[in-house]
Amino acid sequence: SADTAMYGAKQNGRNNYQFYLAEMNANAALRLQTEHQLHLALERGEFELHYQPKVKLATGAGMGKISGFEALLRWRHPERGLVAPFEFISILEETGLILPVGEWVIAEVCRQLGAWSSAWASVPPVAINLSARQLGHAGLPDTVRAIVEAAGVDPSLLEFELTESMLMLDPEAAVRILTDLKRQGMRLSVDDFGTGYSSLAYLKRFPLDALKIDRTFVRDLPGDSDDAAITKAVISLAHSLNLKVVAEGVETIAHLDALRAFGCDEIQGYYVGRPVPAAQCAALMAEESMAVA
Ligand code: C2E
Ligand code: MG
Ligand code: MG
Ligand code: MG
Repeated sequence: SADTAMYGAKQNGRNNYQFYLAEMNANAALRLQTEHQLHLALERGEFELHYQPKVKLATGAGMGKISGFEALLRWRHPERGLVAPFEFISILEETGLILPVGEWVIAEVCRQLGAWSSAWASVPPVAINLSARQLGHAGLPDTVRAIVEAAGVDPSLLEFELTESMLMLDPEAAVRILTDLKRQGMRLSVDDFGTGYSSLAYLKRFPLDALKIDRTFVRDLPGDSDDAAITKAVISLAHSLNLKVVAEGVETIAHLDALRAFGCDEIQGYYVGRPVPAAQCAALMAEESMAVA
């Protein structure tokens, strides 16, 4: 009857609702547990850095040399194994843990640069990703100075990557902080360029060295004519501002060929090299050149 049908619907609705609650509780519980574990992860030494090469795009059919590495954070969880940033970076930011973890990243890169400097004839710069929370901290340049001085590392071996949205949150403060870092000798680049919004007036005022074209513009090259137009425009803009251009997410030879034809300076992506533990970087450096023929 209509009655039982209605009763059934109600029952069903309530079950769905309870299921929803249970799922929400499970998610909230997992999130709380992750947060708790992240609080302990630093002192337990569970963070590690992987390094992804950036390679120079020689003109013609020349081979590319490694022009730098980017340090990418990983969390070695005792049960979950290696956890990628998208699963925990936002939690680090929301809880403020990104400040101590971010300092650990800088110190660890400095330590690694020191080790490489005593082992290798020449060491390429290493890029560190900064978060909005770190840039929002007026003390950042002094923190960086203290870490770099303590490690005795050449500041020009350090690069910082910042996104447009981070820079535009408080552009005047960003100009001050970037200018200080630049005076210390570090390189500065804009990450994921093209996905946020940036004022060209500010782009000129930030003391930048490079723009990194976001991988969403690279993905459909060379077929997508919009992406090709955007990529060429970014390269041209960067070059007229005297900035180097690095393309992210280069996964195929077709991507590479298109970017080379457009005059892109450097590339990064699975085609040239995935992020690897520090121990594997020496082998990459030892290769005469990366496979970008
Ligand atoms: P990002 O700085 O834009 O880094 C590039 C991301 O793209 C990395 O993901 C890298 O592994 C991945 N990638 C590189 N080449 C390719 C490719 O050819 N194809 C595809 N599909 N992906 C590629 P990952 O390591 O998972 O890092 C994700 C994001 O997490 C980074 O994006 C960065 O915003 C953030 N992150 C990583 N390490 C740190 C850190 O130490 N501090 C902060 N604040 N953020 C970090
Ligand atoms: Mg980056
Ligand atoms: Mg990026
Ligand atoms: Mg497209």
